[in-house]
Amino acid sequence: MSQASYQEMTEDQKAIIEMVRQFVDEQIIPNAEQYDHEDKFPEPIVEQMKELGLFGVTVPEQYGGMGLDLTTYAMIVEELSRGWISISGVVNTHFIGSYLLMKFGTDEQKETFLPKMATGEMRAAFSLSEPETGSDVQAIKASANKDADGNWEINGQKMWVTNGLGSSLVFVLAKTDSKADPPYKGMTCFITEKEPWVETNSGEFAGLTVPPKIKKMGYKGVESTELVYDGYRCPPDRILAGEEDGLGKGFSQMMDALEVGRVNVAARGVGIAQRALELALRYSQERKTFGKPIAQHQAIQFKLADMATKIEAARLVTRKACRMKDAGERSDLEAGMAKLIASETGKECVEDCFRIHGGYGYSKEYEVERLYRDAPLLLIGEGTSEIQRMVIGKKLLQRHKI
Ligand SMILES: Cc1cc2nc3c(=O)[nH]c(=O)nc-3n(C[C@H](O)[C@H](O)[C@H](O)COP(=O)(O)OP(=O)(O)OC[C@H]3O[C@@H](n4cnc5c(N)ncnc54)[C@H](O)[C@@H]3O)c2cc1C
Repeated sequence: MSQASYQEMTEDQKAIIEMVRQFVDEQIIPNAEQYDHEDKFPEPIVEQMKELGLFGVTVPEQYGGMGLDLTTYAMIVEELSRGWISISGVVNTHFIGSYLLMKFGTDEQKETFLPKMATGEMRAAFSLSEPETGSDVQAIKASANKDADGNWEINGQKMWVTNGLGSSLVFVLAKTDSKADPPYKGMTCFITEKEPWVETNSGEFAGLTVPPKIKKMGYKGVESTELVYDGYRCPPDRILAGEEDGLGKGFSQMMDALEVGRVNVAARGVGIAQRALELALRYSQERKTFGKPIAQHQAIQFKLADMATKIEAARLVTRKACRMKDAGERSDLEAGMAKLIASETGKECVEDCFRIHGGYGYSKEYEVERLYRDAPLLLIGEGTSEIQRMVIGKKLLQRHKI
């Protein structure tokens, strides 16, 4: 079945999407159930993704990446998420980290990290949220203070860090000026290095511990953790953009990165919705009631029609947001719209697919059961639907001020 709007793809995009789709069909879909049930990190799949170059899709060729644009990246994320959204979770925070480095990093920061990130040798996490705050980023409490020797000492607790244990780098937001008014002017993004898969860091990374992973309803396999910074010492050249240019700029840098992060979540919504449609189309032609396949009942056909229509709309809005960003245009409003419509579409299509499966949708034997537990995350991560509506409303009024 054709999922993508091929006419909208370049020849290069068609080739790469075919390659990713084959990988998803052969390696991800047949194995996702087992990793999900065991809540186990899908190491062999991640190793193959490294070989395919999927950790360096947007990293420039000079640093060993593919140098592709956000539009192509979002197409890849859609395909990966069609297989299992946890796989896109493994690359998402990594992609945000490489975006931050490419856009704001010093030459030394880019040269140090991007080549290893392009191969996946180093994976990145992105950390704003804390136990007491998520949507209200300006309310974070984690702080960094400069020591007499010039290093910055970071203290505080972070929450919900995707790839919190397996990553080698965490882009973390901390307050560097507690008196700043408004608070966002006193926030800085630190590139904190750590040992991957080590709970208690020591030596040069001492002061960073990773508590046991958070148990979740879905989105299994990829770990979400707290991070405890307790006297972690960060050299000044690990402030994103360098101390001189980056101090106090962390909030705006990270909000910029969230714009691409939102497009990324939108692509995941399209991917999971697409998979739900595929499963619903198949099951509804196999299952019979009242003497005919349920797909022949109009009520079921209408569900299929609504699913396909919403998916097409969500995909187009997502592609538009990507293309605007690739063209260098401000796309915060469009990214917000894409995230809102695509994540809600993901949830709605998965629910329709679940209903179409009747009682079997409730059984762990059927894939839709996993989709049903995975889809709600998309309504929350990178800003809830309420927060997207706030962003869209604010930007609309700015653009149409009378
Ligand atoms: C599996 C998972 C992975 C995650 N990964 C990461 C990660 O890698 N890095 C990271 O930094 N964070 C991550 N997060 C955190 C995520 O970004 C936050 O959960 C999200 O931003 C919402 O914040 P909150 O949970 O604190 O909810 P709150 O901000 O407490 O919101 C609670 C409710 O109130 C609503 N609300 C809040 N403010 C308003 C308002 N002004 N008007 C109307 N309604 C409002 C919200 O929409 C929501 O419904 C992850 C979360 C999950 C579940």
